[in-house]
This record gives sequence, C-alpha cells and structure tokens, in this order.
Amino acid sequence: MKVLFAASELLPYVKTGGLADVADALPRALKKYMDISVVIPLYGFLEIESLQEFDRFELELGGILYSIEIYFTLQEGLSVYFIKAPLLSTTKHLYGYNDIDYANNDLRFGIFSAAIVELSLKLKIDLLHLNDWHTALAALFIDQRSLNIKTVFTIHNLAYQGIFSKESCERLGIDPSYFNMDALEFYGQLNSMKGGIAYSDAVTTVSPSYAQEILTDEFGCGLEGFLSYHDDKLSGILNGINTKVFDPANDPYLQECYNSTTLENKHENKVAFLKTSKLKDPRKTLFVVISRLVEQKGMELLIKVLPDMLEKKINVFVLGEGEELYTSKLNTLASKYSNFDFQNSYDEVLSHKVYAAADFFVMPSLFEPCGLAQMIAMRYGTIPIVHAIGGLKDSVHEEKNRCGRGIVFEKYTKKEFSKAIERALKLKRDSEAFKEAVVFNMECDFSFETGAKSYMKLYESLF
Ligand code: ADP
Repeated sequence: MKVLFAASELLPYVKTGGLADVADALPRALKKYMDISVVIPLYGFLEIESLQEFDRFELELGGILYSIEIYFTLQEGLSVYFIKAPLLSTTKHLYGYNDIDYANNDLRFGIFSAAIVELSLKLKIDLLHLNDWHTALAALFIDQRSLNIKTVFTIHNLAYQGIFSKESCERLGIDPSYFNMDALEFYGQLNSMKGGIAYSDAVTTVSPSYAQEILTDEFGCGLEGFLSYHDDKLSGILNGINTKVFDPANDPYLQECYNSTTLENKHENKVAFLKTSKLKDPRKTLFVVISRLVEQKGMELLIKVLPDMLEKKINVFVLGEGEELYTSKLNTLASKYSNFDFQNSYDEVLSHKVYAAADFFVMPSLFEPCGLAQMIAMRYGTIPIVHAIGGLKDSVHEEKNRCGRGIVFEKYTKKEFSKAIERALKLKRDSEAFKEAVVFNMECDFSFETGAKSYMKLYESLF
C-alpha cells in the first residue's frame, strides 16, 4: 500500500504543537508496514539544506493559475515532500501572528490541499492520510474529481476548524453544490473541517475518550450533530511519541543522560537547570508546565491555583508562549514569588532540559484531544498531574500497575486541582513510592507502535 501523510507541521522543520510530533512519529512507526511519505508546506521562513526539486506544475483554482513546485528530501530515512506555492510560501509565520490569522488562509491551505491531491496522483498514492483543517479540503477535491484515492482524516483539535466566508468556495474552485448543511456550510460560512469529515472514508481522533467527547455539546465545538451523523466512520486512536527524539538515555540536550537505573543523573539535570533559572534550591520539589498558554491548556485554573501553591516550599517553572492575558499574569507572579520562574518563549532545547529536571509535570487542560507532553514527561521520569479529560484520561492513571502513573483530578475546580497538588507532595514525601512510580513510567511504552498497528488495520479495512 502506498500512503501519503499530509500535515501543516512536521518535526524537525516546523512545529507549534503536538501535530508536528505526530506527523513525524506516526509515519516512522508505519514505515515498516507500508510505503509511506509525508507532505508539508514549504513555508517562506524554512531554510532546508539538500532539497531536491521533484516536480513543478500549474494548478487552476477559481479561474486563477498557481505555479506549484514540489521538493523532496530524505529526513533520517523518512521521505518528505514540500509544496511551494504562491501565498502559502511567502509568509513569515505558519498561520498568522500576534494572535491574528492571515486573512488569506483559505487560499493558502486550499492551494496546499489541491496540490496534495495532484502530488498523490503523481506518486500513485492508494491512501491519503489528512490531518486537521489545513488539509481537509483534499478529501473534497478527491470527491469532486471522482478520483480513486482512499482518505483518512484525523482531527487533532476540533477547536480549530478553518472557517471562512462563503466566497472562499468560488475562490477555491469548489462546486456550489458542496455549499450545503450536509457538506461545507456552517452558519452561512465555509467550514473546512466539515469537508474532511464528510468526504473522508474514515475519520479518527487522537484518543478514544476525545472521540466520545466530541459527540457532546460541551466538546463538539458546534459539530457534535454533524459528527454524530458520521459516527459510523469515527474512531479514536491514542497518539504516541517518538521515543528516539524523546529519550533521556540518549538526549544531546541534557546535562547527563539517564535511564530508570541511573536516576541520580536525572538529579544532575535538575541542579544544572536550576542554575540557569532564578529557582536555586534543588532540594525543593520542582513542578513544571510546558505548554501553549491558551484557555484549552487550563491556564485559568493554573493561575487561580498558583498563589496558594507558591506559598509552599516548592519551586514552579513555566515554559510557554501564548495569549497576553496569561503571559502578563504569569509575569506578575514571577516578579512577586522567588520560587516561581516563567520563560515566555517556545524553546525546544530548553523543553528537554525541563522535562528532565522536573519532579512533576502539571497539565490541567480544560479539554485535551490527546496531549503528548504528559507522555514525554513520563518518559523522562517526571510524574504528570492531569485533569481527567480526553487523552489525559486515556494515558495517565492514579492506580498502580497501569502504564502511565500520575495524579489525576476529575472535576475541573480549584479545590480538586489543589487536592491533586497535595497528593503529589504526599507521594514525593514517600521517596520509595515516588521512585517506584518514576521507574514504572520510564519502563512503559509510550511509542507509536500500538497506535500504528491500529492505523494500519484501519487503512486495510478501507480496501
Ligand atoms: P498541543 O499540540 O495541544 O500544543 P501536545 O501536548 O500534544 O499539545 O504537544 C505539545 C508539544 O509542544 C510537546 O512536544 C511540548 O513539549 C511542546 N511545547 C509546547 N510548548 C512549548 C514551548 N514553549 N517550548 C518548547 N516546546 C513546547
């Protein structure tokens, strides 16, 4: 089977969140079962050495001709194609800047989606795996052209749907018959994600719990009815991580590498990291957050709980970028408390150091399709504290002997979250029990092996 995996982000080239990790880890895990390549946009800001030109062609959308160039590279054994196109490849950022999306994202990602279909034909692809709204319209273009290519559409986050004005239909060369409630139309606008859901042969989300949650009013983001209608082709497959990229035993960014039998080296990472921050005392329990600073990630709740938390003899460190509302509050807390430090940036290298340095990883998400950060934390022997929602519920458990041990709170309240922090501190005081949990997690399998097998079965079921 020949598969093309299409996404808007891919490690190590371009990443704003977990999608980039998955676009790397899942195809790598699937590679031993099939012929699979990845395609992403060649954004204007990307500088990639050793790209080979693969093809160039003209694409007509809405009466306008766009010149497309396709490039190729082998990224540590994985075949990656890059699409260079007008508008798509001229911006300095992926989706926008200063919290404002580019006004022409409909065309940017519409052209990308149409070019993916063209590339699939050239590569004689059997199955196209689409990810999130940026690639969703490819399924519709395949339907419109009656092409014989199977499609799987994965929803990584239903909160982002790619909604544009009705006029986008014409600009993208989409037949007006698709602008109806059963297809693209959403309250008078064009909803790209609806196209992916309606015209793909199978729809997946990134955890079994999230697959259930998105059928409800609370988490369906207005698409719960539409998704329920397509329920028969919807399933949830838990993501995994690239255990080579995230490997404390072999991580070039760490002060000292370590595994579950050399945890004293993990402590060296704590000491080294603290020296670079204002938090000095390594005897204090270190709680960390590495996250986009948005409502989804539980920032409201975190900021409510932090002042009480910081009265304790602990250290807290936050690494993140996001909404001004949260960064300003975190900056205020950092200037008030000597045991709180905040780095307002996106820093991949630092993130590895922080995962290794921490005792606890805090992830109080309001909703969480899957979440990878909690799995990375566990791989680095850092115990997660999570809200029981979506993929967090599926990957972290408070009971012993179940892979993914952590502290889990059910209700999204300050009281429950504070109690979870207390339970974490109690566990930490019992050094034997704490070490047992750390070692247990480090020996669990958080790779994409299991997930990849489920995707393979799903692909095969479509033929
Ligand atoms: P999401 O995709 O919703 O942002 P995930 O938990 O699935 O959340 O993935 C987040 C990924 O982005 C993880 O690999 C995490 O380490 C990384 N990350 C998030 N914020 C930062 C940051 N400020 N600096 C470095 N890495 C970050």
